Amino acid sequence: MIYENLMHVRQRIEDAAKRIGKSGDEIVLVCVTKEVGIPQIEQAIKAGVTDIGENYTQDAVKKFNAIGKKVKWHFIGHLQTNKVKDAVRIFDLIHSVDSLKLAQKISKQASKLRIVKDILIEVKTSAEATKYGVLPEGASNLIEEISTLPDLQVMGLMTMAPIVDAPEKARPYFRRTRELSQAIAARRVENVRMQWLSMGMTQDFEVAIEEGANMVRIGRAIFEG
Ligand SMILES: *Cc1c(COP(=O)(O)O)cnc(C)c1O
Repeated sequence: MIYENLMHVRQRIEDAAKRIGKSGDEIVLVCVTKEVGIPQIEQAIKAGVTDIGENYTQDAVKKFNAIGKKVKWHFIGHLQTNKVKDAVRIFDLIHSVDSLKLAQKISKQASKLRIVKDILIEVKTSAEATKYGVLPEGASNLIEEISTLPDLQVMGLMTMAPIVDAPEKARPYFRRTRELSQAIAARRVENVRMQWLSMGMTQDFEVAIEEGANMVRIGRAIFEG
C-alpha cells in the first residue's frame, strides 16, 4: 500500500510541476512520518523515499538510531530550545526557525559540533494554521539578524496553510510566501539563500507546487488509505 500510495503521490507531484513548466524531479518529497513507526518508515525507504520529516525530537532520535543516515532528516515541528542539541545532531534541515533566540542556540550547537546547519525560516501566513512562525512583515529583518550568526545557513522559507475544505483556498498563503521569498532573494543578503520553498501537505501540495514550492511535506497521502 505504501508503495502504491507513493507512486500515486509522485505522479501527482509530476503533474502539478508540469503545469508550471517544471519537472517532478525539481520537487523534493519529504515523507512525514510523525504518525508511523520504524517498520513503515523502512517500507517507505524501500519504496524510494530519501527524505524523512519528523515533528518531535524525542521520537526522531529513536527512529534515527534505528534507521541512520541513509536518508535525509527534516525537522518540521516546533523546536523547543531544550531540544536543540539533539535536533542539530540528527536533522539535516530544520524547517521551523522563527526567532533569533532559537537561531542563536542552533548556531552555538552547530559550532560545538564543528558543522554548518541548514535552516529554513518558518513564516506565519495564517493565524489559524499555527501559532508559530515569524509574521511576513518581520521575516526580512529576522533573516538579516540570523545571517550574521556563525555556522548557520538560511536556505529558504517554510509555511503552513490553514486547514481548508478545498485546496484552492490555500493558494493565497503559498503565493504570499513565494513572493516574500523572491523579495528576500532580491535583497542579496550575504550568507542567505532562498533555495527552498517548503510548503504543501496532503491537503494542498499540488496548489503549493503551482505556487512555487520545491519541497513538499506529505504524510497521510503516503501512509493512509
Ligand atoms: C503533519 C505535518 C505535515 C504532513 O501533513 P499530512 O496532512 O499528513 O500530509 C506537513 N507539515 C507539517 C508541519 C506537519 O506537522
